[in-house]
Amino acid sequence: MTARKLVLISPHGFCAGVERAVQIAEALLRSTPKPVYCLKEIVHNRQIIDSLAARGMVFVHDIHDIPRGATVLFSAHGIPPSTRATAHELGLHTVDATCPFVTKVHHEVTRYAAQGFSILLIGHHQHDEIIGVAGEAPDRVTVIADDQDARSVTVPNPEKVAVLTQTTLNVDEVSGVMAILRNRFPHLQTPPSDDICYATRNRQQAVRLFAKKADAIIVLGAENSSNSNRLVEVARAEGCSAYLASTFEKLEAIPLDGILTLGITAGASTPESFVNDAISRMKARGFETIEELSVIREDIHFPVPAVS
Ligand code: SF4
Repeated sequence: MTARKLVLISPHGFCAGVERAVQIAEALLRSTPKPVYCLKEIVHNRQIIDSLAARGMVFVHDIHDIPRGATVLFSAHGIPPSTRATAHELGLHTVDATCPFVTKVHHEVTRYAAQGFSILLIGHHQHDEIIGVAGEAPDRVTVIADDQDARSVTVPNPEKVAVLTQTTLNVDEVSGVMAILRNRFPHLQTPPSDDICYATRNRQQAVRLFAKKADAIIVLGAENSSNSNRLVEVARAEGCSAYLASTFEKLEAIPLDGILTLGITAGASTPESFVNDAISRMKARGFETIEELSVIREDIHFPVPAVS
């Protein structure tokens, strides 16, 4: 019988922003009387949320569900200024785990808006990050979800347009949207450095490389995790079968008959413990040879602010 091989694609899993957000949440749980509230998901990963919830963190979708005077943690995806103002009105003690790369995009919006630009923000309408970034200048920002939006968007002054992006998009798809916008707005302004973050780019590059050799790739990540979904898309664009698995049940349901070379990777909010457990389960399904393909070495870490 032909040996079946499992290849762990790296870099995978936690990025610097998620690592920092989880460390802030854990520090807060250690230093603050429970319950500690978190507005929305701290990061898009069920295992992390369940673990923090078991230790006394209460996750809410509406800031008005938090009792006056309580402590609230803002997630890695960031919030609009209106939410910060509401927290102030409610007398909440706030701690912010917004990823510094997301904060950078917030600053770009305020800078371009102050200069009178119309801002085209490439991203997914309902994603928390886009809601937060667009909220910095709602009258000036138009969200561009796809090529069609790029072709149809109108602005008051086509010579004064800037473009920004969500940090976790598909690099190839953004290039296509950007090309349409550049064609329509020759004076289009872009920020000095890319908005798509290093972790998103590196994970996509690694998957793109291995997808050419793999029979299938499994991405460990949540259904609402933008960067995880993009990894599935990147693999499929290379003609490789790809599956997203957020739980062991979903992992076990993936059809692997006839698959000899299987890649496995994880989105930026998936903990290593889940990756290791998934590998054990794949071993049990006949993938006894385990290798690692390391495409890029990452060494980015953000300092964790003191919280109390
Ligand atoms: S994926 Fe990128 S932008 Fe999002 S939290 Fe991680 S480092 Fe920050």
